[in-house]
Amino acid sequence: MAKRDYYEVLGVDRNASEAEIKKAYRRLARKLHPDVNKEDPDAEEKFKEINEAYRVLSDEKLRRQYDQYGHAAFEGPNGTGGFGGFGDFGDFGGFGGFGDFDGFGDIFDMFFGGGMGRQRQRGPQRGADVHVNLQITFEEAAFGVETEVEVPRTETCPHCNGNQAEPGTPIHTCPECNGTGQVQQVQQTAFGRFVNVRTCPRCAGEGKTVETKCTRCGGTGQVRRVRRIKVKVPAGIDNGFRLRVPGEGEAGTRGGSPGDLYVFITVQPHEIFQRQGNDVYCEIPISFVQAALGDEIEVPTLDGKVKLRIPEGTQTGTSFRLKGKGIVKLRGYGRGDQHVIVKVQTPTNLTPKQKEALRQWGESLGESVRPQNDKGFFGRVKEAIDGLGR
Ligand SMILES: [Zn+2]
Ligand SMILES: [Zn+2]
Repeated sequence: MAKRDYYEVLGVDRNASEAEIKKAYRRLARKLHPDVNKEDPDAEEKFKEINEAYRVLSDEKLRRQYDQYGHAAFEGPNGTGGFGGFGDFGDFGGFGGFGDFDGFGDIFDMFFGGGMGRQRQRGPQRGADVHVNLQITFEEAAFGVETEVEVPRTETCPHCNGNQAEPGTPIHTCPECNGTGQVQQVQQTAFGRFVNVRTCPRCAGEGKTVETKCTRCGGTGQVRRVRRIKVKVPAGIDNGFRLRVPGEGEAGTRGGSPGDLYVFITVQPHEIFQRQGNDVYCEIPISFVQAALGDEIEVPTLDGKVKLRIPEGTQTGTSFRLKGKGIVKLRGYGRGDQHVIVKVQTPTNLTPKQKEALRQWGESLGESVRPQNDKGFFGRVKEAIDGLGR
């Protein structure tokens, strides 16, 4: 089963403060405590999961490593997860139940502390995933785009090829751990004896020592670079989608595969168009006269201007559909539609002559529209409505 993201486990934001993490942990720990969830067979697992997440996220250093490398930061050589490094498990027999909550936390500290020590063991480690943001235009979202994103990431040092030694200089097997990268330590505690496997302090888990560190990477085997990576954004993509580009994340170590690149898409709002699903909406102003007498107008679409027939007597807010002028469907075929909503513009700044013409027109409809220059247009419309009621 894939390990869940620690932030997700605790239900906190990636930028959560120490206090927020602690608070979330305490709340979950109370909720998922196996003592209060006796009927839930998974309670213990869930409880372990939140403890593990808290152990990492509450420790500044471990959190940083996790942010950078993900679970890979704590994974053992077989990719089994870092929490198997315990020898005499049986010695835990005396420790029954989960009665003392606070004490339990301490045990977990030891327990997981042992695991954390394995973070730099030998064996291939997959590189971390890298997340970048990409802002695209409305049109690019509608039709797709091929573009590039700048990706800051670690790569295997090209000079030493990740060996950490200056080319041509010897690499020795670590004498302290005989190349295993681990040293064992037997500890006696209140809970009994257990074997703590920890990272070899001499070689930092590499299992080897180099005489002359690589001059390019300083012996880390990796270099930091900013790459431009091609991204193919499919047509129909929308705000909040993310694209995965396999293998373009951080370099793996000791022959591990690289992580993936995740591109988070933000679509810029359009001046005219709004999107709902695959349909595009826009509002087009038409004049009072166009609405009354009908007209043929030009409306913008994603494909350029098209003609739209406005029938005689069109009311404001009427929607016209332009079939297939919407956004390309991300999954499936064809495109959405465009909806043109006409907004009838009330005339303003009329000349006295135009006002008089309007009044006469009103009267021709049987409306009693008296000169109301001081009340403005709204006042006159109100008068007209009052007139209708009579
Ligand atoms: Zn190097
Ligand atoms: Zn060693």
